[in-house]
Amino acid sequence: MMLIDSHCHLNYKGLVEDQAEILARARKTGVKGFLNISTRQCEWNEIVATAERESDVWASIGIHPHEADQHSDLGEAALLEAAANPRVIGIGETGLDYYYDHSDRQVQQDLFRVHIGVARETGLPLIVHTRDAEDDTIRIIEEEMGKGAFPALIHCFTASAPFAARMLELGLTISISGIVTFKNAKDLQAIVANLPEDRLLVETDAPFLAPVPHRGKTCEPAFVADTCAFVADLRGTSKEALADRTGTNFFKLFSKASL
Ligand SMILES: [Zn+2]
Ligand SMILES: [Zn+2]
Repeated sequence: MMLIDSHCHLNYKGLVEDQAEILARARKTGVKGFLNISTRQCEWNEIVATAERESDVWASIGIHPHEADQHSDLGEAALLEAAANPRVIGIGETGLDYYYDHSDRQVQQDLFRVHIGVARETGLPLIVHTRDAEDDTIRIIEEEMGKGAFPALIHCFTASAPFAARMLELGLTISISGIVTFKNAKDLQAIVANLPEDRLLVETDAPFLAPVPHRGKTCEPAFVADTCAFVADLRGTSKEALADRTGTNFFKLFSKASL
């Protein structure tokens, strides 16, 4: 079973204190790989170091839209240099978050485009976070795809069906978090049931968003098994088959990763 947690924050408070145990628990549950996501430049060294220490952990480098104001002068050069590390397999998470608006929207957009430039140049997939920003996310990805294609995914997908359809048309993959298991996620469940099987990933976004039946606990990568089982059920397939399918999708998209 090729179960992969395609998005977790192993160096965040709540996981970093017990990182070795948390990884051991996940491996015992059948998780074969972990993509450890960065959100601020000051984390990059630590996140890459974890990936250098653990052969089944990879790193992404990037700036979360919440942190955009703090990195408004980050150019492509810093990202390109960090991306050259053999353990760095993705660019992000980046994108737009107009729900919290922790950073200026124009700064978020400018930094999103910087990340896109690096994804295009390196061929490393762009990991997109988007919340309450569907129109601008579509507009920027469309404009940038027009300048030259780049591999990308929407992480922790919670947007609308038309948004999903447009992203799929533009060639993106869609990653599903534990939110899909929530009782009030009926619309999301309906979309997930119908996504094409070759464009689907599963993730925890740990330490956030613990899926049912772990709600209220700190989310950890082992719980990707619960999300995988839930999504498999929605789609009328087995947990093992969905794990294998999403694992294959992961290695096809993140072609720099290997076990
Ligand atoms: Zn995110
Ligand atoms: Zn995240």
